[in-house]
Amino acid sequence: MFVSAILAAGGRGTRLGAATLKQLLTIGDRTILQRSFDIIESHPRINEIIVALPAEIAAPPPPFLKSAKKPVRIVDGGARRQDSVANAFLHVSEGAAVVVIHDAARPFASPELFSRVIDAAAKEGAAIAALQASDTVKEAAGAAGARSVKRTLDRDVIYLAQTPQAFARKVLTEAISLGKRFAGATDEASLVEKAGYAVRLVDGEPGNIKITTEQDLRVSEALAGNRDSGLGIRAASFRIGTGYDLHRLEPGRPLIIGGVEIPHEMGLIGHSDADVLCHAVTDAILGAAAQGDLGLHFPDSDPQWKGSHSINLLERAVAIVRTSGYLVSNVDAVVIAEQPKLSPHIEAMRRNLAAALGVDVSAVSVKGKTNEKVSALGRNEAIAVHAVALVTRA
Ligand code: MG
Repeated sequence: MFVSAILAAGGRGTRLGAATLKQLLTIGDRTILQRSFDIIESHPRINEIIVALPAEIAAPPPPFLKSAKKPVRIVDGGARRQDSVANAFLHVSEGAAVVVIHDAARPFASPELFSRVIDAAAKEGAAIAALQASDTVKEAAGAAGARSVKRTLDRDVIYLAQTPQAFARKVLTEAISLGKRFAGATDEASLVEKAGYAVRLVDGEPGNIKITTEQDLRVSEALAGNRDSGLGIRAASFRIGTGYDLHRLEPGRPLIIGGVEIPHEMGLIGHSDADVLCHAVTDAILGAAAQGDLGLHFPDSDPQWKGSHSINLLERAVAIVRTSGYLVSNVDAVVIAEQPKLSPHIEAMRRNLAAALGVDVSAVSVKGKTNEKVSALGRNEAIAVHAVALVTRA
């Protein structure tokens, strides 16, 4: 049986109030989006995946979407959830018997839950994961803010809908065309009900939470920690990165190290200001967050970076690291230069780096070192820098 999955990740997650889109917030070692995607990608019963994304995530899409082992199509997320699903459904393969829809904000659904929902939909046309209410349920009356209890409902028949939700292709086709006339359907099952089909309830999972609030994020961290350590992957709250750079020296060029212009008869050759210290530190912090390197984000070939001050590129790299969920904690660097003497300039370098990194000067260390006249560095042909950086989960 051919099964297509739609991952609904088109929302903009404004309720969490974070600057980063909710899908891109990191829980443990991966973003919410990647966690949800990984469940589907590794599910043996699912043959293809259609991901509805907001434009700002789709161009360019995160690398894990491109390296997936099964066919993945990326479509525009619509203004409403039902628009995202309708857009995605247009890209479902002709031969799909069942379409399973999952909300990217639920990154903890188990593979077994997917299997149960898919099986029930294959048999009965429509099925959703849902959790029976455990609290006593009250129906309220009155205006918002001044409500009182109208009556107590029988909680045995109250279920809270989750995703995944799965549907026979024909059933979902009808529901989606009906959805064009009904605004504000918060799930596909409600449209399927309107179309007159029975929807089978499949036991959901208490851990299959929908991440909506700050509190949910904190609970998610705990859930992720438990699961990842169970898999032998420990979610790191500290990560370390290393950076290295070398530039050749040439007479008559300005010598800029750590944003400090140092009086000297020679300077470093490079596309930008050739600030070897900034370059190594930039690679160290990007490396700690596994966000590529300087050349990836600010390529030589792109004229917009020509003549850039490397200290400004470092500042931009800090923003990239922050978007990936990490903050710079501290940096240590060794500048290997036979000449000139660096000690008079070390404090100014530390101040510049600290300002760009958004940390206190006490978190930035720069050490000067000669190469004892050995090799190219010792012959004053080049200056090299080694740097390490520690980042912590934001
Ligand atoms: Mg460089």
